[in-house]
Amino acid sequence: MKPDIFPFLITLDLEGVFTPEIWINVAERTGLPELRLTTRDEPDYDKLMRYRIGILAAHGITLADIQEVIAGMGVLPGAREFLDWLRSLAPVVILSDTFYEFAAPLMAQLGRPTLFCNMLEVDERGMITGYRLRIRDGKREAVQALKALNFRIIAAGDSYNDTTMLAAADHGILFRPPQNVIDEFPQFPVTHEYDELKAIINGLLK
Ligand SMILES: [Mg+2]
Repeated sequence: MKPDIFPFLITLDLEGVFTPEIWINVAERTGLPELRLTTRDEPDYDKLMRYRIGILAAHGITLADIQEVIAGMGVLPGAREFLDWLRSLAPVVILSDTFYEFAAPLMAQLGRPTLFCNMLEVDERGMITGYRLRIRDGKREAVQALKALNFRIIAAGDSYNDTTMLAAADHGILFRPPQNVIDEFPQFPVTHEYDELKAIINGLLK
């Protein structure tokens, strides 16, 4: 734990905290239920991404098509107001496993917060051909790097892929997590509404 004089910085997950789950919405809005598969069904992320890219290619779905779907799905009710409130108190960095190309329409709706995530490879026809992780375990790496810059980190996220980030932070908080994550990580406080998360963060910032 850093001495009290060091400033707070808040890191948050994107999907499930500020926006709906992107792939699930893409599956629903494109009418391709095969795209609903997540890391819970296929734990090998690379295999999962190759599978998704193959489905998009087979149906001729371009990055622009997906961006249109993502823009239409919008952010969660109250997300923008909550984020604006947070950003008035401390620097905020959104740490996500998604891709800049997917997140772009949502970032516009959230007032363009700072986002650290990954990159897609796209060919001249606009088809997604691959992806590039900027760094492995990017959420945890970012928290550790920011702590090394002498920030005190408050982190919040909803799922398994956030737990290393929450553990690395000075204060980790779960937001709308599934029951299995609550059961497996009892050390993190659980919140379900923005007001509850606000109350915990307010208490820490005092
Ligand atoms: Mg999430």
